[in-house]
Amino acid sequence: LQKIKPIIVFALSFLKSNFQKKEIKTELTFKDENIVAKVDSVQITQVLFNLLINAIFASQEKSIIKIIVDHDDNNLYLKIEDQGTGIPDTIKEKIFEPFFTTKPVNYGCGLGLSVVNGIIKNHNGEIILQDNFPKGSIFIIRIPLT
Ligand code: ADP
Ligand code: MG
Repeated sequence: LQKIKPIIVFALSFLKSNFQKKEIKTELTFKDENIVAKVDSVQITQVLFNLLINAIFASQEKSIIKIIVDHDDNNLYLKIEDQGTGIPDTIKEKIFEPFFTTKPVNYGCGLGLSVVNGIIKNHNGEIILQDNFPKGSIFIIRIPLT
């Protein structure tokens, strides 16, 4: 079992300059700061990097990215909410495919979310994509606690 908070704190500190470049604030909320789950911390760090880098790319300067750590009896939920461009319905199915990208060459090669998808499958979890209101995207990672 791994403590989740240090994994998230590390990912956020590692990406600090990425947030600062666009003056993006982060808001980290825990239902339980001591929550533990059966995860591979290196892989979950990779998941957080990929989702946060996408969120930063999609966000305007001075916006907020929220990270919410929630759980119920059986599952851990990692929610990453941005106020960015959002994802058009027409491409929602495609974004998890390897090499699908809407970014210019050299910004992304479209592997981030397919890597995330693979890691979450390894953990017997799922990714839920929602629209944020009034704009932006919410990625919810559900992982069984044990
Ligand atoms: P890449 O970042 O290299 O393009 P990803 O697999 O990480 O590849 O993402 C695929 C596509 O999904 C992106 O090109 C973008 O169109 C879309 N996307 C992913 N995350 C977000 C987000 N938070 N907001 C808007 N679009 C996103
Ligand atoms: Mg990416």
